[in-house]
Amino acid sequence: MLSIIVPCFNEEETVPRFFEAVEAQRLALAETLEYVFVNDGSTDQTLARLRELAAAHQNVHYVSFSRNFGKEAALYAGLQQAKGQLVVVMDADLQDPPALLPQMQAMLRQNPDLDCVGTRRTDRKSEPPVRSFFARAFYRLINRISQTPMVDGVRDFRMMTRPMVDAILALTEYNRFSKGLFSWVGFNVAYISYENQARVAGKSSWSFWKLFNYSIEGIVNFSELPLNLASVVGALSCVGSGIAMLFIIGRALLYGDPTAGWPSLVSIVLFIGGIQLLCLGIIGKYIGKIFLETKNRPLYIIKETDESEAHQWHV
Ligand code: UDP
Ligand code: MG
Repeated sequence: MLSIIVPCFNEEETVPRFFEAVEAQRLALAETLEYVFVNDGSTDQTLARLRELAAAHQNVHYVSFSRNFGKEAALYAGLQQAKGQLVVVMDADLQDPPALLPQMQAMLRQNPDLDCVGTRRTDRKSEPPVRSFFARAFYRLINRISQTPMVDGVRDFRMMTRPMVDAILALTEYNRFSKGLFSWVGFNVAYISYENQARVAGKSSWSFWKLFNYSIEGIVNFSELPLNLASVVGALSCVGSGIAMLFIIGRALLYGDPTAGWPSLVSIVLFIGGIQLLCLGIIGKYIGKIFLETKNRPLYIIKETDESEAHQWHV
């Protein structure tokens, strides 16, 4: 069986179209299909669409969160619900072409050594140039400073075998940066490239700042370099001020002390103060993450599933 996991946040228009598009591939797939939709606290009619689908089709399941917990939590919930030996993760907006499913499945079937077929987009055409620029810069940076490789343009759209799914489920951390987690578990991954697709309807829930913060997540979750950097900067400024002190003492001994240099003193004090605050901020970021992890809160809260809904109707 192939489980299809679909996180949905305000996707009322796209969910029915998505379902149709995947059903169109059904004959080309030599598996029975199971759909797991995850309604991530949508404020539109997404849940109503999911109820309709689940009522009409035996193999459509959904879980609905009590509020928006983010795509990462939705993915995790979907992976937990999936029963198939093969599991594929797809966006609801048809940016992940269902036409690739048969090819992905055939690759996994033909090559037993392969554990996962991922996808990467070859271009960033339908994207604002500023965003592409920062995205590229992010990938260059994260690959320098993190042990976990992250390939530019890789999407979450991927088909995995059961052992890889179980490995990802074993990572129960609260701060989930999926791109990193998928890479961290290892396994043999092959990539299919395709051209970027525009959304069929609705709009992307990612603003530039959301993406920016997401990239900071990626760095903090998968690299300790900022912390080390803080100590290196501290050490360097210590050495620097030591040398400056020697220079000032030497100069005062040789030429006397004309009490000049008040502005430079103030700038130095501000500079050092700034570095201290920056380093504190970096440390704070990591402590915040530790705080969130140690609270051990659930990743999401389910309010309703297709089964609970059916139950309500029958009682
Ligand atoms: N999504 C979600 N929770 C969120 C944001 C997004 O489940 O808080 C889902 C969304 O419904 C879609 C997928 O994640 O199926 C990708 O979102 P989107 O298309 O907005 O991102 P983009 O493709 O622009 O990166
Ligand atoms: Mg999208």
